[in-house]
Amino acid sequence: MTLEGRRIAVRGVVQGVGFRPWVYRIARAGGISGRVSNDTAGVTIDAFGPTAALDDFLTTLSSSPPPAAHIRDLAWENIPAETAREFVIVGSRKAGDLAVSIPPDLATCSDCLAEILDPDDRRHRYPFTNCTNCGPRFTIAREVPYDRPATTMAAFLMCKACRQEYDDPSNRRFHAQPNACPVCGPKLSVLSPAGTPLDWPDPIRSAARALADGLIVAVKGLGGFHLACDATSTLSVARLRERKRREAKPLAVMVRGINEARALAEIGEAEERLLLSPERPIVLVTRRPGCGLAPEVAPGNPLVGVMLPYTPLHHLLLADAGLPLVMTSGNVSDEPIATDNSEALRRLSEIADVFLVHDREIASRCDDSVTRVVAGRPVVLRRSRGFVPRPIPVATPFERPVLACGPHLKNTFCVGLKDAAYLGPHIGDLENLETLTAFEEAVERMLQFLRVTPEIVAHDLHPGYLSTAYARSRPGVQKIGVQHHHAHVASAMAEHGLKGPVIGVAYDGTGWGEDGTSWGGEILLVRPEGFERLGTFRPIALAGGETAIREVWRIALSLLDDAFEGRPPLERFRLFENLEPRDIAVVRRMTARGVNAPAARGVGRYFDAVGALVLGRSISRYEGDVALALNGAADPAERGVYPFSIDESRSLAELDLAPMIRALAADLLAGAAAGAVSARFHNTIARATAGLVRGAARQAGHLPVVLTGGCFQNALLAERTLEALLEEEHVFLHHSVPPGDGGIALGQAFVAAAVAREEGSL
Ligand code: ZN
Ligand code: ZN
Ligand code: FE
Repeated sequence: MTLEGRRIAVRGVVQGVGFRPWVYRIARAGGISGRVSNDTAGVTIDAFGPTAALDDFLTTLSSSPPPAAHIRDLAWENIPAETAREFVIVGSRKAGDLAVSIPPDLATCSDCLAEILDPDDRRHRYPFTNCTNCGPRFTIAREVPYDRPATTMAAFLMCKACRQEYDDPSNRRFHAQPNACPVCGPKLSVLSPAGTPLDWPDPIRSAARALADGLIVAVKGLGGFHLACDATSTLSVARLRERKRREAKPLAVMVRGINEARALAEIGEAEERLLLSPERPIVLVTRRPGCGLAPEVAPGNPLVGVMLPYTPLHHLLLADAGLPLVMTSGNVSDEPIATDNSEALRRLSEIADVFLVHDREIASRCDDSVTRVVAGRPVVLRRSRGFVPRPIPVATPFERPVLACGPHLKNTFCVGLKDAAYLGPHIGDLENLETLTAFEEAVERMLQFLRVTPEIVAHDLHPGYLSTAYARSRPGVQKIGVQHHHAHVASAMAEHGLKGPVIGVAYDGTGWGEDGTSWGGEILLVRPEGFERLGTFRPIALAGGETAIREVWRIALSLLDDAFEGRPPLERFRLFENLEPRDIAVVRRMTARGVNAPAARGVGRYFDAVGALVLGRSISRYEGDVALALNGAADPAERGVYPFSIDESRSLAELDLAPMIRALAADLLAGAAAGAVSARFHNTIARATAGLVRGAARQAGHLPVVLTGGCFQNALLAERTLEALLEEEHVFLHHSVPPGDGGIALGQAFVAAAVAREEGSL
């Protein structure tokens, strides 16, 4: 029998996910000798054995990797055979290995779950059980390399039994850095809002009972505190909303398992895969009527955000409570989520009745991620826990390290380094000092993890944003401003490896344009280093500026006045029934004189205004409130389209929706159903978009088209636009990077690198 040798290079997410121990086991089982080691880009295996055994080994490698591993690429070459006796895992702790060494947090695996449910196991009901296939990673890492002493597990000395598992290459806990058990690991306790320890024998059972009794419990999770309550109790949910000062924004719900999720909502195959994925994100799904959830969970919204337990603590709590639980971020309105015990007690004592805490520190704050299925495929809407800091490979490497500071709302930042981009965790709206501090800390930590000092700093053009101010205050770097929608399009290009040019469709609520006005309905021809604006929406007046974003009736009024040349039959619309004639007069004066009535082109503003008109809703209680309600009302069977016109007489084409507003108003006055009118509005935006894109293609040629911006979180709009663009060959939606502002930082980094490259070559 002749021996053969192969060197196999595996790329992707293969570190910190139990990959090497798994390779070790399948090599042993298959009679392969050799070694496996981590390197800068992934894992390298030198395998020796008979040809057939090596073939089998390769097949297993590529076909059934551990649950949390993602193989992006597997390549092999022949090497001289060695007569090694056995297969070994080579320790690799070289300084150069760092870029990929901290994996994202992973949901509890089925083996660990079985152990905590087994009364005879030494980890029965132990809430911090984990192994190489699962458990905390990013949220406990303080430094690199990702090794126990550099994590918040350093405070816990492994007992003999745990140490044995940790040292044994054939064990599932070989080098599982957070390995722990009831003897040696972190422990739970229950505290009163005053911080007094409560003498409750079983903290999880007691907390579950408190929840069933209607109390609000602050639960220390993986990346921060949650506020939990019984999701079926109107009283509890209403109390949580009142105390948290969150009027109407939907709250996420955690249920015990996939069957419980099915009972609450319509779960398709793609949704099921997302719910069960090791990232365990919140998945937006359509709620079933009469599903038992309190309507206060997501008032006026047919969608609900559902997730499954992702730590043993959650599994046990959900099982003991026997109820779906609201699990919302532990903060007051717009502050960052609380992470340490004293901070949580300080900030949440007015909200929670009981605190379920533990003594393992959270090193990095990381909110739950949010996803939904659009056109049959998953789209990440908020990319945080479970995804961060997984690198996003880029087709054009970063020649110099870039830090992109991200947008103002839903901020994330991004570090571009060599052949990957690293999007940071969700920070939130950079509107207060707490959030800015959280942003600065998270940036510093990521730079430290990657051991990099940025040479280029990218930022938004808006002079008033805190992220812009932060970028400008960083000394000794090249600063590059990137227009908001340019960044949106570039983020989709980076995600899909498109080098450009592309035709970008960027639809959102607002973004600082190059002319100092607010953009948001933009058709752009984008090469990464620059862009040309080929199409846009005719602007609408926002009487009162920011106030109009909340008082959406003002935008509806402007649209009607514009479409009916100042004489719309206002008295016949439900929306205007309860509005004061005086307020209407004031808004009209502002618009007529152009005083504090900036022009805006955001498609999101059209959704707000049409939603106000169709649903009779004058106020948007949170960003996207009325737009989401309009979307939720749409009847998907309705295919009608309203008229519109596109003025192509100048190089910047302009879409005029006044004909649509006239037809839509006539529909409403004739008593058409809200569902039909809403769907026709969606269909019109989709059809008009295709018109704008075709116009752009006549100027720029047929190019790949990308759809980006917060409006494309709207599944119906995205699906109808894809249909309308059917004759375009390549149309791209976002998948792994958020279409909304949470994805902007990646685009900023991509653009800044291209600008610097072009300047360098001049
Ligand atoms: Zn596990
Ligand atoms: Zn132990
Ligand atoms: Fe945006």
